[in-house]
Amino acid sequence: MNHAPNLSTADIQRVDAAHHLHPFTDYKALNAEKSRVIARGDGIWLWDTDGNRFLDGMAGLWCTQIGHGRREIADAVHRQMTELEYYNTFFKTTHPAAAKLSEVLAELTPEGLNHVFFTNSGSEANDTVFRMVRYYWQLLGKPSKQVIIGRNYGYHGSTVAASALGGMAGMHAQAGMVPGVHHITPPYWFDYGGDMSPEEFGVWAARELERAIDELGEDNVAAFIAEPIQGAGGVLIPPETYWPEIRRICSERDILLVVDEVICGFGRTGNWFGSDTYDLKPDLMPIAKGLSSGYLPIGGVMVSDRVAEVVIEKGGEFYHGYTYSGHPAACAAALENLRIMRDEKVVEHCANEAAPYLQQKWAEFGEHPLVGEARMKGLVGALELVPNKPNRAERFDNVGQVGTMARDFSFGNGLIMRGVRDALIISPPLVMTREEIDQMAKLIGKTLDDTY
Ligand code: PLP
Repeated sequence: MNHAPNLSTADIQRVDAAHHLHPFTDYKALNAEKSRVIARGDGIWLWDTDGNRFLDGMAGLWCTQIGHGRREIADAVHRQMTELEYYNTFFKTTHPAAAKLSEVLAELTPEGLNHVFFTNSGSEANDTVFRMVRYYWQLLGKPSKQVIIGRNYGYHGSTVAASALGGMAGMHAQAGMVPGVHHITPPYWFDYGGDMSPEEFGVWAARELERAIDELGEDNVAAFIAEPIQGAGGVLIPPETYWPEIRRICSERDILLVVDEVICGFGRTGNWFGSDTYDLKPDLMPIAKGLSSGYLPIGGVMVSDRVAEVVIEKGGEFYHGYTYSGHPAACAAALENLRIMRDEKVVEHCANEAAPYLQQKWAEFGEHPLVGEARMKGLVGALELVPNKPNRAERFDNVGQVGTMARDFSFGNGLIMRGVRDALIISPPLVMTREEIDQMAKLIGKTLDDTY
């Protein structure tokens, strides 16, 4: 039997088109255009099967914080696989890698988050949130507290509960919603700010939460879920006034704060967690992606002492778990990734070297005639492309067309960026050097000129 590595690029594309349904892909368009076949990665670079090289401006899918091809992780996983390839963590069982990783996570994450529930992905982490939040209020004798408030353009994953918590209208339209989720306006000043200053708008957008709690009734609201910076929604960086006001509302109202750190966690915003950047005290904190730098699938929910005490002391068995929760090989990959990040001071490098340097370049892109807003925090950013720079409110007629075109130009130039509506977004590996940032900036400049 033939295995994929022995096939030519054309054969791989043919086999793939015949049998493989990709995530978030227009299948007809894929069949017409053929898939890109990525074969190898090293540092910030990827190569396809024809030998073309690409700068990975999206760190895979917002996850390879340390870059591609780190041998130490392969070795750590190999060691773990030869010792114990699999056992579960159900029914009062554990293994050394899961125990050690839970200790490291309790140490690294913000104060008060001392427990972790392991999952395989961010989506499963958010499904866990959905069930744990409701269980928590039941245990406290408040079963009416069921509704979770999320935000439009929020993304929390693709499982049934996670897609409902997210605010992607297209996802809801294709497969329906689950009851008990409510969405509010996101802190997206560029689109929704109108005549307000970013600071005024930040407060207004945060008070959307207060208005929603009043409308739904505090006795019915279980939690508010939000990403510190909305990633897949278009890198929506909230005005500085937003999170302090959300903090005030959450402390005055009897609801849980769930901070989805699947993208912002593990250094992306220049601190270990977005919660550190915005001074948040999550009750629950989903994590994934950067936890293993994507080397193996693993996620989890960090659970605060407040929630854990109730679940442990008042609850019985929590009827929830995944066969691969705390998979030994995935835990070994995460432990080695976190060791590298700590030993090599990857987060400090992002905060003090890479992010300030790229942010300088970003501000220069803000001057380009096609760019209506250039925003960036840590190493995650967006360039809003507009038809008429002096008028912030004007948009291209066919939303998404120019963003897609720019993304494709970028790919043609050897740089992987993503298009969200008409924004070009970037989230590169945190280990980028100044020279690599210079190379990337050149490609972005060319992409903007090509699109203009
Ligand atoms: N939460 C956020 C903020 C995400 O960006 C994502 C994925 O992009 C998820 C959750 C879902 O994670 P996964 O794709 O690992 O299920």
